[in-house]
Amino acid sequence: MTEVSYILISLFVCYVIHALLNIYKHPKHTNSNHVFEKKNKIPISVNFHFTRKCNYECGFCFHTAKSSDIPTIENAKQALRKLSESGMKKINFAGGEPFLYPKYLADLMNFCKNELKLESVSIVSNGSKIKRTWLQKNRDNLDILAISCDSFNEETNIEIGRGLGQHTENLYEIAKWCHQLGIKFKLNTVVNSLNWDEDMNKHIEILAPFRWKCFQVLILENENGGLEGTLRDARRFEISKEKFEAFVKTHENQKSLVKEPNDVMKNSYLILDEKLRFLNCTESNKVPSESLLDVDVDTALHQAGWDENAFLQRQGIYNWSKTPTNSCTEANDLKKFDW
Ligand code: SF4
Repeated sequence: MTEVSYILISLFVCYVIHALLNIYKHPKHTNSNHVFEKKNKIPISVNFHFTRKCNYECGFCFHTAKSSDIPTIENAKQALRKLSESGMKKINFAGGEPFLYPKYLADLMNFCKNELKLESVSIVSNGSKIKRTWLQKNRDNLDILAISCDSFNEETNIEIGRGLGQHTENLYEIAKWCHQLGIKFKLNTVVNSLNWDEDMNKHIEILAPFRWKCFQVLILENENGGLEGTLRDARRFEISKEKFEAFVKTHENQKSLVKEPNDVMKNSYLILDEKLRFLNCTESNKVPSESLLDVDVDTALHQAGWDENAFLQRQGIYNWSKTPTNSCTEANDLKKFDW
C-alpha cells in the first residue's frame, strides 16, 4: 500500500467516525428521529388565558381576576412562536374576557394564522363585548368562536353572575353572525347546582353549535375554593357526578354534546397564563411553571402536570379548522334564528 492510499483510507475512516458521532449528537437528522422525539410531549393545543380581567362575575369562575396584567404583545408572540416550533397546531384565546382587548386579540390572531400558520385559532368568550364589525374584519383569522352559556333562563344567568339579563339574546345574535360569516360556532356550558335539571334541547337545536362542551363545575382551591385570599367560593354550585350524568342524559340526542366531568377535565388542558407560565392543576390548585420567556418549552411542559393521554381521550383533537360556508344552506339555517 502506497503512502497516499494509506492517508486516503485514514481520512475515510475519520469521516465515517465523525458522521456516526454526529448522528448520535443530532438525532433529529436521522431516521430514528421519532424514537428520540417521542420522549417529549407535544403542546398540540394550548389555551392562552392572556387576561384574568372580566366584566362578568360568575360565582364558579376558576380563572379569577387575581391580576390585571396582560403580557406585552412582543412577549406573547415570543412564547407563541416557541410553542409553534414545538408542535402547537391550535391556539385558544381565553380569559377572563378576551374581548376586553379587541385590538390585542386581533393582532395575536393575525400572528398565529399568518406567521405561525397554525391550523386553528379559537376564542372562548362570554359574548357580551363582541361586535359584528370586529368579527367581519377578523373572520379570516378565526376558526372557532365559543360562547359560554349555562342557562336559557335569565334569572339563573343573573344568579350565576353571567350578566344582567341579556345573555341569551347576545348568544343568539352571535350564533347568527358566526353562521353568516363562516366561523364555527361552539357552546360551552358549566353544569352546576342551578342548571343541572334544565332542559336546553330546543335552544341547542336552534343554535346548532358544531360542538357543545358540557363541563361539571370544577373547584380549584386557590381560585374558587372559598379559602382566604380567593375571590370566589364555588362550593354552593358543586354537583355530584350523578347529577352531571342526569344533565347529559337529558341531552343525549344532541350530537354536538361533549361531556367533561371533573376527572376528565382537570389535567387534560394546557393552560398558559398572563405571565406565559403553564398552570398545573393536578393538586386541585393552579401551580405555575416557569415562564416560557425564561425556559424552553420542554422544561415548562414537564412542570405543567398536563396529561397528554387524557387530552387525547377527551377528543382534544377534532376537526378544528373552519370550512367554507354554503350560502344556500346558510340562508336556510339562518331562518332558525328568528325566535
Ligand atoms: S365569564 Fe368566564 S372569565 Fe368571566 S367571570 Fe364568568 S367564568 Fe370567569
